[in-house]
Amino acid sequence: MREFSTDILVIGGGPAGLSAAAEAASTGAGVTIAESERRLGGQLVKQSHKFFGGKEEHAGTRGYEIAKILKDEISQYGDRVRTMFNTTIVGYYGDEGIVTAMVGEEDYFHISPKKIVVACGAQERLIPFPNNDIPGVYGAGAVQTLMNVYGIVPGRRVLMVGAGNIGLIVTYQLLQTGVEVAAILEATPRIGGYWVHAAKVRRMGVPILLRHSIKRATGDQVVTGADIVELDENFSEAGLSEHVECDTICLAVGLTPTNELLWQAGCRMRYTPYLCGHVPLRDASMRTSNENIWIAGDSSGIEEASAAMIEGRIAGLSAAESLGYKAPPGKFDRYRSRLRNLRAGEVGEKIRAGVASVAVAEWGNV
Ligand SMILES: Cc1cc2nc3c(=O)[nH]c(=O)nc-3n(C[C@H](O)[C@H](O)[C@H](O)COP(=O)(O)OP(=O)(O)OC[C@H]3O[C@@H](n4cnc5c(N)ncnc54)[C@H](O)[C@@H]3O)c2cc1C
Repeated sequence: MREFSTDILVIGGGPAGLSAAAEAASTGAGVTIAESERRLGGQLVKQSHKFFGGKEEHAGTRGYEIAKILKDEISQYGDRVRTMFNTTIVGYYGDEGIVTAMVGEEDYFHISPKKIVVACGAQERLIPFPNNDIPGVYGAGAVQTLMNVYGIVPGRRVLMVGAGNIGLIVTYQLLQTGVEVAAILEATPRIGGYWVHAAKVRRMGVPILLRHSIKRATGDQVVTGADIVELDENFSEAGLSEHVECDTICLAVGLTPTNELLWQAGCRMRYTPYLCGHVPLRDASMRTSNENIWIAGDSSGIEEASAAMIEGRIAGLSAAESLGYKAPPGKFDRYRSRLRNLRAGEVGEKIRAGVASVAVAEWGNV
């Protein structure tokens, strides 16, 4: 079995992982990025809209352009950052100090890293309803990948389920490619995404039906439509169902942190609805209860790319420091202050509560 070692293994090449890699490499540490896909950038490569967030996190820049900025940043470190594409980290064996990696579907090998930053992003949630397994039912991430990575439209007429930012943005992207969107269904009484995104799709004639959900997909072999229904305040059916014709049902019903490796590594985990799932306890440097593992980005709780990048920088810097590399004075404080600014105000209220519930001041006290 092949095996090689590295100072710091960064698992995932999205905004969190790329930022961690850049920051660790800037101190002189050797870094390996393992990325399942054949490209870097994570979710960013699919985002054609301009991002919100802080100026230092490239607010006003389109997602795929932010990915390019981060890739350019790591390329300045030359061989100090090694990137392995099409490589998924599938197992953690702490006693032996190795992780197992899979290239494609057949080639396995070992990596023995001194330290690890887990930046594996998130997974899409799906909802149960009759016929949800027939062709034509997609997660919103899959629709984005089809359209924005492979240039393929998923269908001609889509029913979107979920009016959070992802549902609204993917609706807009569908409309831009000429696909009709019959409606957006939202089970709660309010639109979860930013108003600017909601206003755009409404102006383009897409109704957003609050307190509505999907009851079943219709069609024998493929989706031909959906029965939808109004909900009452207890999320029970409030009336007769209505039929909507469509060939695609797109589910944008939330994300949950990718955390399998963290469970395997024995990190102390806690469920917090504000961060959308089970996430590891972490100290201010993003270190978990496993002294060799740091976390960053959506794996540490569902937030935004802007926060993912800063968490990545903190995690990468701290992992490098633990190996004796030096961070310039004041850098941690600057990153922490940027993170606090991003999470300030009413919009950051739930994130602040979530982070507070998993923050650890000193590992010795836990
Ligand atoms: C439609 C949409 C719109 C958005 N709009 C905005 C916005 O306007 N502003 C904003 O700030 N944020 C936005 N976001 C959120 C933002 O994209 C995410 O918060 C951000 O990408 C999270 O970064 P990450 O690096 O943690 O994860 P990801 O970007 O998901 O990257 C994780 C990477 O890890 C890889 N990976 C996973 N597991 C493994 C493994 N075991 N081995 C190797 N590689 C692995 C994946 O292939 C992926 O490339 C949006 C997201 C979506 C879906």
